[in-house]
Amino acid sequence: MYICIDFDGTVVDHRYPYVGDPVPLAVDWLQRFVELGAKLILFTMRSDDAEGKEYLRDAVQYFEENNIELFGINHNPDQDSWTNSPKAYGKIYIDDSAFGCPLIHPPTFNRPCVDWKVVGPAVEATLLEQYN
Ligand SMILES: [Mg+2]
Repeated sequence: MYICIDFDGTVVDHRYPYVGDPVPLAVDWLQRFVELGAKLILFTMRSDDAEGKEYLRDAVQYFEENNIELFGINHNPDQDSWTNSPKAYGKIYIDDSAFGCPLIHPPTFNRPCVDWKVVGPAVEATLLEQYN
């Protein structure tokens, strides 16, 4: 199952262009999704530019440092055979800006972030349903 995952406000606190503090439980749940067979696609507005600012690279590195395997970066490699659409294909999109996404606002955080206590178990249940 393809899961598109936003970065700022979803995996870390909104501190763009810096990498904010970890959103509580995000790393644990993302590792769990991969363990259950999910293919994670980082789906973020971050980009690298010609002046050497590597804001997208910073996000990718965060996944590497936290041992979270990425299947794609702003692109689902498996969709090339059936579409030219620029939208990355996912079965699920997890994004703090998505309408209806459960949010929390930890006291030290700049902005509200994804509530993984709600999102994690719900996505896990979807994954378990698919593979059982
Ligand atoms: Mg966001």
